[in-house]
Amino acid sequence: PIYLDHNATTPCDEAVLQAMLPYFCNDFGNAASMYGLHGWNAHKAVEQAREKIAGALGAQPENFIFTSGATESNNLGIRGVFRACNHKGKHIITSSIEHPATLATLRDLEQEGARVSYLAPLPDGSFDIDAMKAEITPETILITVMYANNEIGTINPIDDIAFIAKQHGILFMSDATQALGKVDINLTTCPIDILTCSAHKIYGPKGVGGLYLRHQHGNRVVDIRPQITGGGSEQGLRGGTLNVPGIVGFAKAVELAQRELSNGAIDKVEQLRDKLEDGLLELQQVQVNGMSEERLPHVCNVSFHDTDGKKMLSLLKKSISVSTGSACSSSNLSPSHVLTALGLSDELAQATIRFSLGRHTTEAEIDFALNKVREVAALTLRV
Ligand code: PMP
Repeated sequence: PIYLDHNATTPCDEAVLQAMLPYFCNDFGNAASMYGLHGWNAHKAVEQAREKIAGALGAQPENFIFTSGATESNNLGIRGVFRACNHKGKHIITSSIEHPATLATLRDLEQEGARVSYLAPLPDGSFDIDAMKAEITPETILITVMYANNEIGTINPIDDIAFIAKQHGILFMSDATQALGKVDINLTTCPIDILTCSAHKIYGPKGVGGLYLRHQHGNRVVDIRPQITGGGSEQGLRGGTLNVPGIVGFAKAVELAQRELSNGAIDKVEQLRDKLEDGLLELQQVQVNGMSEERLPHVCNVSFHDTDGKKMLSLLKKSISVSTGSACSSSNLSPSHVLTALGLSDELAQATIRFSLGRHTTEAEIDFALNKVREVAALTLRV
């Protein structure tokens, strides 16, 4: 089958793999053991990777710490702030269409006394700034809103949210897992306090990610408690021996993604997405979800009215790998919380496909996908 599910994960880039290889068998040292050459080489590689990634984000290297991925980073950001700051207040604001790594963490903290406001999106999937302003109280310690949505590809007004949070002296966190490498993220100009990301969405290895924490004049602005305690690595914020090859691969992946952003490659992906979307919209029964003005260039989320969704997807999946109405856990048959929040019925949510294109997607693949969808949609239309 052709692969149009790059928001789920991406293949590791060959250049990323090559960059990682020396750190498995030759430079295998522990980055924390700087007494010998092996440890020193590993340490140097990690610090160079940190510089590269922080640099791409417009941040200082000491502000970026490595984790096992965005799920862990979101847990660390949210739990870490709540545990460090809940003497100031216990209120957190988020959106109801965040990734489960955020929502399940907040639900869990509600058991520890957190009060959470879950903001519904506007019908086009965009973020409701006025609703957010109305929720702010003196008890609010954190606002956490994703940079871009993994299911529908909408991009949130992160600069505006960050400035409002700053005006109120509230920490602002953003899950940038799906935005990294797709949009220009600049932490020099945008006052995000905590940003989370993951390597495997940008052609890096699985199981490595990071967390940015704002510093000012060399001091960390964000009061945060570690969630994995151990030997003091990552400024004492995340215990555990560092995944040196993974970290080196992450940095290489960021470098490649930066290049794609600046050389126009991402615009070609957008053209293919538009071609796909226009083709799909020729079908009477199709609607596009998340048509807000700001969207990721490679995502197209469509629902099919009057359609046997289950049958359509099972027929389609033989030839195209895509996500369904339950994007991040397609084994879970309950309708996606994102689509439900947009007002879709359970039935329409079940008849929904998320296409996410990648750097290797070709026009021939898009033509093939369009033909296949047309064929399957005709077979599964309820008349
Ligand atoms: N946040 C978002 C927006 C995501 O799309 C994902 C991956 N589906 C995650 C967090 C979790 O990332 P990871 O797989 O690195 O734990």
